[in-house]
Amino acid sequence: MFTPAGLRPASVHIASSRIDAVAGWDEIPTDANLVDAGTDIVMPGVVDTHVHVNEPGRTEWEGFHSATRAAAAGGVTTILDMPLNSIPATTNVAALEAKREAARGQTIVNVEYIGGLVPGNRRELESLADAGVRAFKCFLTPSGVDEFANVSENDLRAALPVLRRLGLPLMVHAEDPRELRPAPRDGSRVYDDYLASRPVAAERSAIRTLIGLMEDHAARVHIVHVSAAESLEAIRDARARGLPITVETCPHYLTFAAEEIPDGATEYKCAPPIRDIEERDALWAALLDGSIDCVASDHSPCPPSMKETDGDFFAAWGGIASLQLSLAAVWTGARLRGAKVEQIAEWMCAATARLAGVAATKGRIASGYDADIVVWNPDLSFVVEPEKLLHRHRVTPYAGRTLYGVVRSTFVAGEQVYTG
Ligand SMILES: [Zn+2]
Repeated sequence: MFTPAGLRPASVHIASSRIDAVAGWDEIPTDANLVDAGTDIVMPGVVDTHVHVNEPGRTEWEGFHSATRAAAAGGVTTILDMPLNSIPATTNVAALEAKREAARGQTIVNVEYIGGLVPGNRRELESLADAGVRAFKCFLTPSGVDEFANVSENDLRAALPVLRRLGLPLMVHAEDPRELRPAPRDGSRVYDDYLASRPVAAERSAIRTLIGLMEDHAARVHIVHVSAAESLEAIRDARARGLPITVETCPHYLTFAAEEIPDGATEYKCAPPIRDIEERDALWAALLDGSIDCVASDHSPCPPSMKETDGDFFAAWGGIASLQLSLAAVWTGARLRGAKVEQIAEWMCAATARLAGVAATKGRIASGYDADIVVWNPDLSFVVEPEKLLHRHRVTPYAGRTLYGVVRSTFVAGEQVYTG
């Protein structure tokens, strides 16, 4: 069990929804309702800070009912819902309330919300913060949906002082639109064509722009889904100068590589794209040396029809659904590289809880913390069968892959919400 003193045999005592005490392995009150985890790992529930639920408005892509059940099955006890692809997008308080209303009675894990920063809504940021959003999100390139426009440098210059005052992080999709290449006129089934259309230079350039803006207004900035280790040099530098910048990567960049993506296999399409083997290894090195703070799923589903484009990567929706698989996918890569489960708990529970502003009550197993817990076995493996996924849609590039890390049970606020 993860205890304040490290990973060791222990018992966790839960009273109502909180952890009352962490005690010795055999210190069990006689009247306790005992759940014996055997030799499995008892870890804080995963906090996934990057999930697109899409309800209301695009519930046929993914909704709160299916998303939170998939989360529970994957050991995820808290999700942060992205402000797009629902309709309305979460760019004002009325839209946030519509989200909360849509979620009511449907969720079995904790759901927190991210507000959107779009051109023209700077004056909504404070009221969104007052209404409880945990962070803001913006795009520097077109987002893929019309109702969530990308911001310009001027928009950012105006918003950063407000965000600095509010103390909430700005999560940024960092690709510089000037560095992206247009789609071929007839599209393409060749993965390398898609890869070449979104080069590393786009990510690097956008990150440099953001850091430049942070020099003037040191609001918290978090770079989502970094796909290339080269992008991290500027971030290391900025941190060394004291700028409050953090960075995440995603399970798919750590699992797949461009060399193994067949032409026409649009289930692998996401933006920025999955890059080559060398890049994947460099991302792992950056995660292991702390240059990357955390891992979030970027669970971004769509109906299967939007991936069925006769293999045209440019016409297909960009997004990979992996909420249920992210813990196992990351652990599978981590164990191959000699990493420990403690590092998983840092990347996917503690660091993401800090990013989400919930670290006072989540991301640790300790007295006074919420009883959000995953019990899992790191030595057992399973083959991903799409029909066993609880995501609304079963399309997945993980189909047929063997992953290590089997979730046995998941508890939210002391209640068991999943049993494997
Ligand atoms: Zn996303």
